[in-house]
Amino acid sequence: MTFARWRALPFLLLPLAAAAQTVPDPAPETSLQACLDRLEPAARAAGVSTESWRRHTTALTADPSVLEKLDIQPEFSTPIWDYLASLVDEERVEQGREMLRQHGAVLARVARRHGVDAATVVAVWGVESNFGQNFGKYPLVQALGTLSCQGRRQTYFRGELFAALRILQAGDVAPERLRGSWAGAFGHTQFMPTTYERLAVDFDGDGRRDLIDSVPDALASTANFLARAGWKDGLPWGFEVQLPAGVSTEGQGRRVRQPMARWRELGLRRADGSPLPELDAPAGLMTPAGARGPAFLVLKNFDAIYSYNAAESYGLAIAHLADRLRGGGPFVTPWPTDDAGLSRAERRELQQLLAARGHDIGAIDGALGERSRVAIRAERQRLFGERTPDGRAGQKLLRTLRAEGLLSR
Ligand code: CA
Repeated sequence: MTFARWRALPFLLLPLAAAAQTVPDPAPETSLQACLDRLEPAARAAGVSTESWRRHTTALTADPSVLEKLDIQPEFSTPIWDYLASLVDEERVEQGREMLRQHGAVLARVARRHGVDAATVVAVWGVESNFGQNFGKYPLVQALGTLSCQGRRQTYFRGELFAALRILQAGDVAPERLRGSWAGAFGHTQFMPTTYERLAVDFDGDGRRDLIDSVPDALASTANFLARAGWKDGLPWGFEVQLPAGVSTEGQGRRVRQPMARWRELGLRRADGSPLPELDAPAGLMTPAGARGPAFLVLKNFDAIYSYNAAESYGLAIAHLADRLRGGGPFVTPWPTDDAGLSRAERRELQQLLAARGHDIGAIDGALGERSRVAIRAERQRLFGERTPDGRAGQKLLRTLRAEGLLSR
């Protein structure tokens, strides 16, 4: 959650509590061990035993790559249609439906206990870790130890480091299993350590809260998170709507809620043309790509998703994936672009086309990393004559490369 995607998606914001923190971080530390030595009393005061502290920090070396991630300045901000095209693609919808079948019994019990439906829980799982296939590779104590002593926001990361050590101390997770994102999010649900401490639950009843090796614990923990964030069972997150001409989106937003009856008076209908539902629940009008793109009425449940990762685009990805898992279709109103985003399958195809032209892009993995971006820039320059192309790839580039490949045969 939170930090995990902040790296790749500049418009995703930091967790609110962390963002509100105003204590300046100490000066950069040259020696990790000297810094850790000075942190020991604070760790003790935070409930980390001397033995745990020494066992996990004595031989710790800094990992400079996490500092690079912390400071990365993306070359362009990701348009929401790119973000959603890769997070909610046919592959993920299919896998999600398979997960709903495979874990149906557990999900039904989770829904009864925590009051959050299966599709929503599975959607979070799919976006956070691709259904457990991507936990992140960073040893958590090393990543958090580095971030506690070097770079920005050290105070925040120290709190997470101490929490990670308390988790190890409690024996919930084996040290070698505690790996995650560069910023310390781990497991199926990508909880930060302090979130784990507050909200993880032992659902399979083995006495341990395990978000890494227990799918039931992870699914129930996600549901618990959403329930504690105010999820109301039986209500939708919201839905896509048709905006009648003359209704201004000026000053509207997720937090500007009005009664459903008021939206009905203004002439809003659901995207398929049907009337707004008879719900005694206020809703806000969200237009993430402006008035010409898809419009949504969002209810309080959207805020619960938003609290998992404070970005509207993230909330919409989860909400939309959940709808797709329930059998819903794509958004009715297209995004306001003539160059739509790429699914992961299309990103892999693009990478193959780039590799076939001699670009060294590394693994064909559907993740457009730095080497893919360099290749994309070069191809946009070559094909479109752009003088300062950015590293974005959409349908236009894919189509052009495909056609070129066919011509050259
Ligand atoms: Ca358990």
